[in-house]
Amino acid sequence: MFPVVSAVLDVLYPPLCLACGLRLRAGEYLCAVCLRDAVPLPLNVGQSSAHISSLACACDATMMLVGWEYEGGGVIERCIHAMKYRRLHSAGIWLGRLLAERLLQETNPGARGILDAQAILLPVPLHRIKRIERGFNQADYLCRGISSESGLEWDSRLLLRRRYTTSQSASKLDRDERQRNVRDAFHVDRAHAASLNGRPLILVDDLVTTGATICACVDTLIAAGFTDVRILAIARPPRH
Ligand SMILES: [Zn+2]
Repeated sequence: MFPVVSAVLDVLYPPLCLACGLRLRAGEYLCAVCLRDAVPLPLNVGQSSAHISSLACACDATMMLVGWEYEGGGVIERCIHAMKYRRLHSAGIWLGRLLAERLLQETNPGARGILDAQAILLPVPLHRIKRIERGFNQADYLCRGISSESGLEWDSRLLLRRRYTTSQSASKLDRDERQRNVRDAFHVDRAHAASLNGRPLILVDDLVTTGATICACVDTLIAAGFTDVRILAIARPPRH
């Protein structure tokens, strides 16, 4: 949206906290009190192997970090729903910025942890048909927010989706069927891959549950010759 249009909309419809309705400054989506209800997950690189081993599939990602727990009815769920189902795209940019801010503050002092300056952010792609149905890919907005805070490049041309897997049918499948369903769903633009010259990649998505989709992306990128493929997600369901 043009900045002028967005400024006019902010005056006409001032942003309100998505959880409690409090009036906020432009560009914010949760007030400080509601944000404290979110359950942040530690972002130091030492957490990575626990995240990877909690996935339902064997995953060859070199690193995985997740911002918050995804609690039913919780404030992070409200933000993700607003972004995906109410088309509040700027809430996605805000979530990406919030996560990047935490990563830059909390990761190993002196190092940038997962947000290594050479790395490229990759949104987990939606199939073209699904993208037309929804009108956008929410992971693009998350990448835009992470990029604006960290200065990392983001790229939506390298990894593409070939098959149309509906999330509705995927939820009815068991784990093996779901993995088969997504195994051949992605491909890499080979010519573009050559220009990226083996740089570290960071796959970005809003929510990682079983990990079947994002692990299929990791497999595809490793098969195309990338050796350092990382996962960064806004949220994951609580593990009990
Ligand atoms: Zn609030």
